[in-house]
Amino acid sequence: MDKPKSIPIGFFLAAVLMVGLGLAVLTRHGRWDPTERPRTFSWPALGTVAEFSPRGWDGAAARDGVAAVFREVETNLSVFVAESAVSRLNRGETVRVATNSPLAEVLCLALKTAEASGGAFDPTVNPLMRAWGFRGGTPSVPSPTALSNALGRVGWRQITLVPDANGMLRVSAGGAELDLGAIAKGYAVDRAYDALVANGHTDFLLNLGGNIRVRGSPERGRADWNVAVRDPSGRHPPSPLPRPLKNGEAVATSGSYERFVEIDGRRYSHIIDPRTGVPVDNGLGSVTVIAPSAMLADAYSTTLFVLGRKAGLSFLKGRPGCTAVFCEP
Ligand code: AMP
Ligand code: MG
Repeated sequence: MDKPKSIPIGFFLAAVLMVGLGLAVLTRHGRWDPTERPRTFSWPALGTVAEFSPRGWDGAAARDGVAAVFREVETNLSVFVAESAVSRLNRGETVRVATNSPLAEVLCLALKTAEASGGAFDPTVNPLMRAWGFRGGTPSVPSPTALSNALGRVGWRQITLVPDANGMLRVSAGGAELDLGAIAKGYAVDRAYDALVANGHTDFLLNLGGNIRVRGSPERGRADWNVAVRDPSGRHPPSPLPRPLKNGEAVATSGSYERFVEIDGRRYSHIIDPRTGVPVDNGLGSVTVIAPSAMLADAYSTTLFVLGRKAGLSFLKGRPGCTAVFCEP
């Protein structure tokens, strides 16, 4: 009988390496299970519902990271958290923050949007929100005096951000009252998105109260995400966006149907026109904006809801990657 030939150790190691690599590739491409429905984690956050849907991977641990980011943004920016930077500014304090802090990043886009929209978007609408009863008490139409007092306290130009010698910013509200509710949720989604990407995650959807951002693929063999928009009246099923979302894109919807107060049987939208002090009533039910980031989509959908269709479309001109959908009530 022939003596069995010995296999050179180098050949043996190369074979093990190749099988291992092959298995790794198979696992990467075989991880999508076509019979498995995407798993969506959902929980309350920033006064609304947060959703995180990892596609083709187990996101249980990553979900905790997303929740932590949302909590951090809320602790910094919510008007409902007494010790948030926003509440401290509203009490007249000057707040010192880093240039990459939630307050500085959100204020930067909020003030730019306020200027570009001629004040249709204004992060200092809080006195008007209070006057109409969105901050507690019984909602009522404010008297002309109460309305003009509230209007007199609204004005984004009063906010100042001054760099100090240590590369920090000194922020003051200058007597105005901040309300970042039109932009903070989009910002929170972007922060969570960046954290997931930095941790190497590729395929997922994030949704914070209608502020959505997608990454990678929704399922095996598909690159685009089909996202639907709710009908403002709730009478019709959700309708699809004019185009699917691509990797990294975001979408947000602002509408009168989601939050409102009812006064004498009439509904008043939670989005107020800072130029008149009156809740927006321009014949629109909702505006949806697709944009390259969730913070842009959030800021712009609120802006376009105030501006209306014609002025809204001209606002979007020259803003690459942005598309708007206007819905009747
Ligand atoms: P959104 O749902 O993103 O459209 O934001 C609406 C929220 O933004 C409201 O509940 C208010 O807190 C705030 N807000 C209302 N009107 C305005 C406005 N004209 N500009 C900026 N923020 C506003
Ligand atoms: Mg918004």
